[in-house]
Amino acid sequence: MADDTARYTLETITDWRAWTPKLFSFRTTRPAGFCFKAGQFVRLGVTKADGGEVWRPYSMVSAPQHDYLEFYSIVVPGGEFTTALAQLGVGDAVRVNRLALGFLTLDRFADGRELWLLSTGTGLAPFVSMLYEADTWRRFEKLVVVHCVREAAELAYRDLIPTLAAEAGVPELADRLVYVPVVTREAVPGVLGQRVTALIANGELERRVGFAFDLERSRVMICGNPDMVDDTRAVLGERGFALSRRAVPGQLAVEQYW
Ligand SMILES: Cc1cc2nc3c(=O)[nH]c(=O)nc-3n(C[C@H](O)[C@H](O)[C@H](O)COP(=O)(O)OP(=O)(O)OC[C@H]3O[C@@H](n4cnc5c(N)ncnc54)[C@H](O)[C@@H]3O)c2cc1C
Repeated sequence: MADDTARYTLETITDWRAWTPKLFSFRTTRPAGFCFKAGQFVRLGVTKADGGEVWRPYSMVSAPQHDYLEFYSIVVPGGEFTTALAQLGVGDAVRVNRLALGFLTLDRFADGRELWLLSTGTGLAPFVSMLYEADTWRRFEKLVVVHCVREAAELAYRDLIPTLAAEAGVPELADRLVYVPVVTREAVPGVLGQRVTALIANGELERRVGFAFDLERSRVMICGNPDMVDDTRAVLGERGFALSRRAVPGQLAVEQYW
């Protein structure tokens, strides 16, 4: 009979941080031998109130060199997985599948000078992992992190992001970062407030960043809400941007969270 523990390991939650009542991050011990590339995800499993198991994919926020795993989660009202997950805390166990998956990784792009990382909500997670890596900072002349949320309190990791060049061991490259928070349901002075598709279509995002989307120079990753991913792909598609595939290199890589 197949042994379930061959598929996953039980890891202990070592740290828990609530950003808002509906957003939190947590760390777990790292499974022995668990390998991943920055940008990948893993399936997590928890036990529901009725005793059954439920599994969902989660991007790693932490980087391959860390001795812990970190995840950033929403609480979906009535959501099967997140309702059970949100009950847990430090000292509790989470199942972690042994296999990391996913293609939202920098090896999707062979070239490019500027990397645009566009996210909504928890879709920021894989980009934090990438920014922990020195290679990301060395490879691109500019790293644009766009994080779109509804309310300013949801700008998780906003204090960490400007420190990530130093965390990655390349503090001298910190000025390559352009961090652009976008808050759509609350007016915040100096912060962009429209949906990212509108900000691209009307040129405001490029004005804020100081340079334009360019087919030769720009490589763009998009992660999070599927409507945002599709709409942004469409807006950039009108400007000639196409998905990067193994056989046909392009400028875009995307991941939808539902
Ligand atoms: C490759 C991949 C990576 C993912 N990584 C993460 C991650 O790092 N962090 C994370 O919180 N979620 C992530 N998700 C989503 C996650 O797998 C679950 O969908 C989420 O935890 C909700 O589970 P649930 O059972 O509570 O609700 P579900 O039944 O899975 O979802 C119910 C509804 O909640 C909404 N929803 C689901 N996920 C989100 C979300 N993240 N933000 C806003 N609304 C959402 C959607 O409307 C969805 O239809 C990822 C999904 C994929 C496919």
